[in-house]
Amino acid sequence: MSETDIVDINNQKREHPYGFKRNKFVISGLESINKAAYWDYQRERVYLKTNPVLKKGTHNRPVTVKPMVPNQIIECKRPSTCSKCGSTNIWEHNNRSSRIAVDLKFTRYGIKRWITKYLYKRYICSNCWKTFSSNIMASKSHIGTELLAYSIYQCIELRLPITTIEKSLNELFELSLGLGTISHVKTYAASTYEATFEKILMGLCNGHLLHADETKISLKNGSGFVWVFASMDEVAYFYTDTREGDYTQSLLKDFKGVLVSDFYAAYDSINCPQQKCLIHLIRDINDALYKNPYDEGLKQLAEGFTNLLRPMIETIDRFGLKHHFLKKHLPSVDRFYKYLLHLGLVTETAVKFRERFEKNKDKLFTFLNHDGIPWNNNNAEHAVKPFAMLRNIIKGVTTEKGLREYLILLSICETCKYRGLDFLDFLRSGEKDIDVFAASQQRRRRSTKIRHTSEVSENLGGLVAPLT
Ligand SMILES: [Zn+2]
Repeated sequence: MSETDIVDINNQKREHPYGFKRNKFVISGLESINKAAYWDYQRERVYLKTNPVLKKGTHNRPVTVKPMVPNQIIECKRPSTCSKCGSTNIWEHNNRSSRIAVDLKFTRYGIKRWITKYLYKRYICSNCWKTFSSNIMASKSHIGTELLAYSIYQCIELRLPITTIEKSLNELFELSLGLGTISHVKTYAASTYEATFEKILMGLCNGHLLHADETKISLKNGSGFVWVFASMDEVAYFYTDTREGDYTQSLLKDFKGVLVSDFYAAYDSINCPQQKCLIHLIRDINDALYKNPYDEGLKQLAEGFTNLLRPMIETIDRFGLKHHFLKKHLPSVDRFYKYLLHLGLVTETAVKFRERFEKNKDKLFTFLNHDGIPWNNNNAEHAVKPFAMLRNIIKGVTTEKGLREYLILLSICETCKYRGLDFLDFLRSGEKDIDVFAASQQRRRRSTKIRHTSEVSENLGGLVAPLT
């Protein structure tokens, strides 16, 4: 058996994968036959003719929507002035109307439905003839903030499909939310938190360290790329149509920190100190060694690089990423490059690696000259993972607009996690600024700590017998 007889089964495609798509038929007759096999069609038109259980299930299904009993009723006050011109000459324009606002209420160990009924009237201004209702009605949304928070938490952090969220909310709380409601909630949330996202992105573009990576996504119409920018405590995701780095470059035109990335060429033209991911380089060298086990030159190059890196990693293990301790390795980098020059490399692979080392000479050991700059791009690869999981749910289904909304909210979710903050709590707080929210959480923690300590000492006071 020769090597060409072996086939990697992972590369083999199933002949009939379970793709949930409408098939296109050349002959129209086949299309109507195919339609006759759809699940809903068969249950509602065919099987129920012979199956009594199905007959019951389809026929006696109640379709009425129960009216929602309000937990509270709020009567909106008569406004004192016209909302447009400020005149006080306003009259009632129609009789009382009402509106239902749907929300949830979080208790300590549970969630319950919370319905508010607003009673209001419309008014007309005798000065400018504008009609308007009470101020409170103008600002009130049909969906309350807790329901919004809970939906977005399920959509982004738990990565549930939007239709699943709607179904579970409707079943658990008898909400009768219409199809697409949660999709609107997502759109609304993304616009509400857009400034929060912009602040994260700007923070990253003005920081001292930036990890970058990009990955592909297929959309409803076409495909594009999602870029990840990450530091130690912030993450931002954004979308571009192509893998060209134009937008990334414009974002980073004033970046003064160190950019950590893989060897993708789009990053090269960004004008800042750069650290290329050495893990990527090590993997590439390792792969080449596997493929060319008798390439002596390549082996010497790999050994030289390993001997150069090993003591650096030991220093990082002991002291962390500190320039003060790492700078002692700078002379060995110079020695390595001299060693490379004198290696008798004959194969094309080995020569290519030498060229790669030469080309990236000032982008491989930048971490030795700085504090807190990692020598690999693991932070970015780690940040790609939550997006990759979300992508499994939304790929091929979402539009570009829908994806951009997901990315705004995912950026906020992940940044919260990086900073040790609860994403659901952040959404429920109504706060838009993550720094302000973090500070309020710290104050809360401090005050509960003080309360706990005083409780403990009081309890001890009751237990410990006084010294006599
Ligand atoms: Zn007016």
